[in-house]
Amino acid sequence: MIKLEAIEKSFADTTVLTGIDFEVDKGEVVCLIGPSGSGKTTLLRCLNGLEIPESGRITINGDSIAFSHKQKKYPINNLRRHTGMVFQGFHLFPHKTVLENLIEAPLIVKKQKRAPLVKQAEELLNKVGLLEHRNKYPDQLSGGQMQRAAIARALMMEPDVMLFDEPTSALDPQLVREVLKVIETLAKEGQTMVIVTHEMHFAKKVADRVLFMDHGVIIEEGPAENILVNPEKEATQDFLQLLV
Ligand code: ATP
Repeated sequence: MIKLEAIEKSFADTTVLTGIDFEVDKGEVVCLIGPSGSGKTTLLRCLNGLEIPESGRITINGDSIAFSHKQKKYPINNLRRHTGMVFQGFHLFPHKTVLENLIEAPLIVKKQKRAPLVKQAEELLNKVGLLEHRNKYPDQLSGGQMQRAAIARALMMEPDVMLFDEPTSALDPQLVREVLKVIETLAKEGQTMVIVTHEMHFAKKVADRVLFMDHGVIIEEGPAENILVNPEKEATQDFLQLLV
């Protein structure tokens, strides 16, 4: 479903991703973990074209872009249309209701009809437990409700892959569970997902595979129980020890 080959990304003089290779299969849930500044968010943003690598290749569901220092412009929508992104800070449209937030992109981008979109949005809002809040504005919701609305909004585009960037780190602890439960449900349904997270219990529960990153390199990867319980590499052991 996703293939990254030799992805390199720098900001000014700082190399942030150093030859990243990995693959994600259809239906797989991959959690990216690692210290602050290791490049997790940058990697996720490369997957949906919010950051452009200097070199390497990204393939998502058959669409492929090869990046090169010489080229400035890419058909980035070819990648983006396969992905739905959920950010730390929700990014809902503040002047639109929850329902309008959900139907906005398919209405404008896909030029779909309003009535079936409203039906689809209501089904998704029911799934994330927000149907009764569909006519509220984002500032009338809790952080957990806003994040669940953001997840439903990303699902409206029926992405092949959902990308989550620390989806619970802006939430009060009592609101984290309700968001993680929604992500767990998606995992059980076979949604392909790449999740940057600091929630190790959650990663253990939901991930088919965990990737540990440090200094822009994937240090080790494997099933959650191997990486999170019995990591081989010293850097992974040190990182996990700090969390205990
Ligand atoms: P965290 O867990 O703290 O979110 P991370 O592993 O997601 O960290 P990134 O956010 O990908 O790490 O950042 C990797 C490095 O790239 C950091 O040193 C960061 O300062 C730098 N960086 C990220 N985005 C930019 C940018 N737009 N301009 C300059 N430097 C950036």
